[in-house]
Parts: sequence; C-alpha cells; structure tokens
Amino acid sequence: MSSHSPSHTIAIIGGGIVGSALLYTLAHRGVDAILFEAEPELGLGASGTNSGVLHTGFDSAPGELETDLILRAARIRPAVLHALDVPVIHTGAELVPHTDEDNDTIRHLAANAAANGVEVAIRESDGALLVAGESVSDPVAFTLALAESAQAAGATVEVNALVTGITSNTDGLTLQLADGRTFAVCAAINAAGLYADEIARLVGDDSFEIYPRKGEFFVFELPDRQTLDRIILPVPTKRTKGVLVFPTLDGKVVAGPTAVDLEDKDDWGVRPEAQDEILSKAFQQFPTLEGLTPIASYAGLRPAGRGSNYIIERSAANDRLIHVAAIRSTGLTASLGIADYVAAELLPDLGIAVDPLRPTTKVSMAPSNGPWWQRTARHHAADNS
Ligand SMILES: Cc1cc2nc3c(=O)[nH]c(=O)nc-3n(C[C@H](O)[C@H](O)[C@H](O)COP(=O)(O)OP(=O)(O)OC[C@H]3O[C@@H](n4cnc5c(N)ncnc54)[C@H](O)[C@@H]3O)c2cc1C
Repeated sequence: MSSHSPSHTIAIIGGGIVGSALLYTLAHRGVDAILFEAEPELGLGASGTNSGVLHTGFDSAPGELETDLILRAARIRPAVLHALDVPVIHTGAELVPHTDEDNDTIRHLAANAAANGVEVAIRESDGALLVAGESVSDPVAFTLALAESAQAAGATVEVNALVTGITSNTDGLTLQLADGRTFAVCAAINAAGLYADEIARLVGDDSFEIYPRKGEFFVFELPDRQTLDRIILPVPTKRTKGVLVFPTLDGKVVAGPTAVDLEDKDDWGVRPEAQDEILSKAFQQFPTLEGLTPIASYAGLRPAGRGSNYIIERSAANDRLIHVAAIRSTGLTASLGIADYVAAELLPDLGIAVDPLRPTTKVSMAPSNGPWWQRTARHHAADNS
C-alpha cells in the first residue's frame, strides 16, 4: 500500500441536503464515504432556509436533467421519509387563475404536468389547478435524518471541517482541511452549495460560477389557532414566478420568497423593502393574512449557477472530482434522485463498486431545538454577536 492509501472511498464536500442525500445513498449502497461540513452543524445553508416544499415536477421543463431528477427522487423519497420518521404534510397545492392569461397558463401547466406524468386536476368552479402530490416537509429534519441514518449505516461526518485544498495522489485525491488534517480518498464529490465554484477552483477548474440568489420569507400566526390546509401557488406570469403561501409543520403560515441576485455570499439578512414586496402579493393569494403582522422573517441564499443549472458531472480538470453544483431551486425535492444518479451513473465510471440500495437504516432523532425556519438566522446572529 502506498502512503496515499485512501482512508475512505468517497469524500463529500458539503453537508446540505444534497451532501446528506449523497452520504445516505452511498452508505446504503456499500460505498465507504466521509462528509466534510465547514459549519458546526449540517443544513445551515440553503438547505435550512427554503420553503420546505417537496415539488411534484408538474411545472418543470420535460426532459431536463433537473426534471428527471425530481421525478427520480419521487420514486425513492416517500419510503425513506417514512422509514426515518421525517414529518411531511400532504397538503396538495392550488393555483387559482385571476385573468384570461392565467387560464391559458393553467391549461399549459396541466399539459406540462401530463408530459411529466404528474397527476393534476382543474377545479370546475374557478378553473384552479390542483396538484395533489405537492407536500411540505421540515427541510432541516430531512437533512439531519439522512446524515444520521448514513452514519448508523457506517458513514462518517466531520463538522467544523472546511476543505481548503485538493491535490492528486497516485491512488486518488488528498483533501486538506483548514485545521491542518489531510484525508486521502479515491474520489470526491463537490456538494458545497454556494462555494462549489471555489471547490472547483482548488483543482484548477473555473468552468462555472455560483452566485447567491436571495429568497426572503415572512412567518405568520393565524388568529384562533387557524391553519392553512394547502400550499397556495401563484399562477406564474412571463414577468414573475410570484409568491407562495404555505403552512409549516408547527402550525405557522409562511409567505415568500423573493428572488434577489447578489454577489455577497455572506449576506443572509432580510432587506427592509422585502416586507412590502412580499406582503402585497401574499394578501392577494391569501387574504386572511391582511392586517396581520409577521412574527418572524428569514432569508435563504440559493446556490445559483451563472448561466447554468444542475451541474452534475466529473470535473474536466480532475476527473476524480465530481461536481454536484448549482442545485438552485429544487434541491430539497430532488436530493435523493441526484444522489441515486451520481451513485448509479457516475461512480461506476471511476471503477467504484456500487451495490443495490439497501433498506433504510432507522434512527431515532433528538427533538429539534426550536423551529427549523429560525435555525440559520439564529446561527448567523450568534456568529455576529
Ligand atoms: C429561498 C429558497 C427557497 C427554496 N425552496 C425550495 C423548495 O421549496 N423546495 C425545494 O426542493 N428546494 C427549494 N430550494 C432549493 C434548495 O434549498 C436548494 O436546492 C438546496 O438546499 C441546495 O442544497 P445544497 O446541499 O446543494 O447546498 P447547501 O444547503 O448550501 O449546502 C452546502 C454546504 O456546503 C458547505 N460548504 C461550503 N464550502 C465548504 C467547504 N469548503 N468545506 C466544507 N463544507 C463546505 C456549506 O457550509 C453548506 O452547509 C429553495 C432555496 C431557497 C434559498
């Protein structure tokens, strides 16, 4: 054995939903994997600051990789969520038309859904599109449960583990961490979200750029313990995708998100003007919110590729590094499909043996410390205090 004998077969860089789904999948397909997460906990990036909606793919462009992986995930995810006791509310979603243009869009969306094999119906009374399969989850619980199950199945997670260097060795790659440790592995997967372009640069790959697209949300409590029993999606127009209103697992109602393109990857604040931008649209969607004051707000940063989306491929600069980057808007939904695709389609080309998927290793999770939608904001507030 050389001095570079791999300590693990695969290193995963980044512990968001994508990295955690990869770790889960590899651990359950007989691949020895280790995950490095820069932060003290998993899921503090985009994966902990989204809408928590598990999309059906009814409105996704047929034939695109993103759509294929959303649909692939839909075949895998329900059994995994069930086995791991990840909470999901099976609300369904509705899109209510207000104009003739909206009615045309709804007909187009119904045809699109059919092309993707997603069941939808049009309500006779008002022409609303009903998408029964849309649901709401707790994205942090999902991320943590996948990683916990992976560890119970033999995988390793290192937090406070910022990857700062990647070099080739005779047997694969050596990863350098900010704390001075090094790990030799056969191959690595770049699931570093907003920083995936910086990981690519470590092997001399500047083929893509990631920028933050901020999404801001406002959280409401309805009076008299009322709840919302469905996801209210806007009918998209040529100009905007609009604002959605959805229930959370802890009985709140959330309106958002915005879509603001930024340069600063550390700008996690909610802009003062976001409230007006969101609330005017949210009141139209769900008039019950009118007159209520939000009890909280939060922001997420989508890892958006500049001119690219869903970059899932071996790096042209070093084919032992696999990018799973620019997973901008649907990563929560598609994560298990993405991981299955990487395991089944990309790893065998590197000579890495991948077994069929084993049944989920069950785990019991500690109760969460407060609502998931406050977790990242609290983390950044603690960092800045
Ligand atoms: C406002 C908003 C709304 C959204 N709504 C939905 C939705 O309803 N449904 C849906 O399916 N998707 C939604 N998404 C998209 C989804 O959240 C993302 O696609 C997904 O979270 C991306 O996951 P990720 O693991 O790639 O990135 P992240 O969650 O950002 O994880 C990347 C991780 O890599 C770590 N990292 C970075 N650099 C290093 C390094 N050098 N070393 C070690 N670790 C590193 C980071 O700390 C981070 O934890 C939404 C996103 C946003 C922001």
